[in-house]
This record gives sequence, structure tokens and C-alpha cells, in this order.
Amino acid sequence: MQVPLLDLKGQYQEFKDQVMKEIAEIAESQYFILGPKVDKFEKECAEYCGADYGVGVTSGSDALIIALMVEEIGAGDEVITTPFTFFATAGAIARVGATPVFVDIDPVTFNIDPEQIKAKITDKTKAVIPVHLFGQCCDMDPILEIAKENDLIVIEDCAQAIGSEYKGRRAGSMGDYGCFSFFPSKNLGCFGDGGLVTTNSEEKYELLKIYRNHGMDPKYYHKYIGGNFRLDALQAGVLSIKLPYLDGWSDARQVNACEYYELFSKSKIGDKVALPAIAKYGVRHIYNQFSILVKEGKRDLVLNALREANVGCDIYYPLCLHEQECFESLGYKQGDFPVSEGTAQEILALPIFPESTPEMREFVVSVIEKALA
Ligand SMILES: *Cc1c(COP(=O)(O)O)cnc(C)c1O
Repeated sequence: MQVPLLDLKGQYQEFKDQVMKEIAEIAESQYFILGPKVDKFEKECAEYCGADYGVGVTSGSDALIIALMVEEIGAGDEVITTPFTFFATAGAIARVGATPVFVDIDPVTFNIDPEQIKAKITDKTKAVIPVHLFGQCCDMDPILEIAKENDLIVIEDCAQAIGSEYKGRRAGSMGDYGCFSFFPSKNLGCFGDGGLVTTNSEEKYELLKIYRNHGMDPKYYHKYIGGNFRLDALQAGVLSIKLPYLDGWSDARQVNACEYYELFSKSKIGDKVALPAIAKYGVRHIYNQFSILVKEGKRDLVLNALREANVGCDIYYPLCLHEQECFESLGYKQGDFPVSEGTAQEILALPIFPESTPEMREFVVSVIEKALA
């Protein structure tokens, strides 16, 4: 049996006819940059996320950068985030010239530990970027409270969390900005790169639109130095067609997760593996990843056994951001964030995509069981 980590070909069949018609229509119109397709998708996506406004951009990475740019965060400023995330989170902070300041994670959710944020706030701190990792929201209430007390901007990194909820509130509706990615492997993917920024502030919305187009307003008059962060009509057209399917896909991911819980509990694996936990504060987990922890130093053994058996799996993330060569000058060292570092040693993502089958999951768990026997 072949079990890919992700297979997008199955879901493509569901909307193929609609999408091909849409692409043909856009090609006939020759209207490619921004325009009515982008406006339409921005409205739909903001509404889906429970936010007042949405601004389509070139990628999730650029969504983070443009939010920082609108806040004029740069050299001399500090931005607090997690060292256990995809590189783009801290990369965006560094690329605007600011300094990423890391805070360790909670061992249960793998998300930034709100308790440890306060100690890292200085008079240079301008913002905090909580990352809703793997599709589960951070504990936002304490984060929002700390931000309010200290006058910090909150930029939610929602790249892995579209439709995820915290106490009934959607990812991207709680902070000052929500940054989304439509990279194909995210729960809502386009046919290339794409992203979106949500906000509930009309003023920030207007600025995001100006910054996305070289800070230009009106045409050829530049009050700010923005960039080309424009989403194109083809991506917006594809996304508008896929969005109505998203809840069905997220539900399927939850069902698949439940099956894993059952299969693992019936297996002889016991506590050699820890399954992803649902946070007690009340969340809708959308399982962009189903990441287990393999204990007793056996992660790589299990990884190799799965690969040998043609099961797709991967490590998100093998090296924390404070240990990356490019951030050497920040002066962190191994041991600074023990929970993140320990998690990086044990974490392993298993196939969870909506169209994966019960037989696939049975096979995956049986391979793990054998490897750990
Ligand atoms: C994917 C991802 C990004 C970047 O999104 P792109 O669209 O690939 O630029 C940022 N943050 C996190 C947590 C991600 O997973």
C-alpha cells in the first residue's frame, strides 16, 4: 500500500469542471491583477474568518511582512514570537529589519506559552506574532490581554489555521491582523502562491491596500514605500470555488483524527507515542497536520520504518528557529527553549488529508506498532 502524506489529486476531481470554466473565463477577460475576482474572494474569505476586511496578497510570508510594514515596524524594534514554527514567521520580522524575540511553547499545544511572554517585553517590543500551529489556535485571551496592557500589535499567523476556532472565535478575527497562506499544502490551497490579511480596522484595511501596491495612492503618488504584494485573479478565482468545500474537508480531517485516536488506543504502542491533544480552552482544531510525539529517542526509527513502508510522513520542524544559522547573530544557544527543542526531537506528522482512507490509517498505525515492538 502507498500512503502519501498529502494527495491533492483526489480533491481536485471534486471541483475540476468549475475551476476550468473559471480559468477560461478569466483568460478570456484578460483581467489578471486584482480586480473583481480578487474583491469577491476577499469579501468571502474575510466573512469565513469572522473578520471585517480581507486583503489578498502574494503569499502567507508577504501577508506577515505587509502587516509589519503597515505598522512601520523595523530597525530597532522587537517582535515576540515562537521558535517552533515555519521559518517565514521569524523571517518576516527580520526582513523588515526588526529583531525576532523568541518565547518557548506549551508542550501540549506546541503553541507559544502566554505565561512566558511578559518576561520578554522591553520598551522596544512593538508586536507579538502568535502562530496557530498545525491548525489549533493559541490561547488568545491572555495574549490579547498582555498585548493590550503593553500596547502591542497582535499579528496572528493563521497560515495553518483557516477556519480554526478559539472559544468560538475564528483564527484571524481576534488580533489586529490575521495572516493566511494559500500555499497548496495548506487546508485551503490555490494553484500556486497566494495569501490574505484580515483585519477589523477600516484604517488598517485601507493602508494594507495601499502598501500592497507600492504604497501608491493615488496612482503614481507614493506616500509610503510598499511593495508588489498583489494577489492575482486566477488564484482568487480558484480560491472562491474551493472555499465552499473547506468545511467539508476540515470535518473529514477531524474524522480522520478520531480514527487515529481509536487505532492508537487499541494498539500495543501505549505511551511510547503521544497523540496531538485538544487544548482545554475550547478550540476547533482543523488538523493541517496530525503530529505525534515519538518518545524514548525512537522518532527517527519510526520515521524510517514508515518511509520504508511507503508511508509519507515528515518532521515539522527538525530545527528550531533560534538554532538556525541565519539567526546566529541573535545570540541564542541550544538549551534556551527546552520545550521547543525537545518537541523538535520527537515530532512526526502522519497523513491526515481529507481523502485518506481508514485502511491507510490502519496500515500507518500497524507500521508504527511493529517499529516500536
Ligand atoms: C506556510 C506558512 C507560512 C508562509 O506561507 P507562504 O504562503 O508559504 O509564504 C507562514 N507561517 C506558517 C506558520 C506557515 O505554515
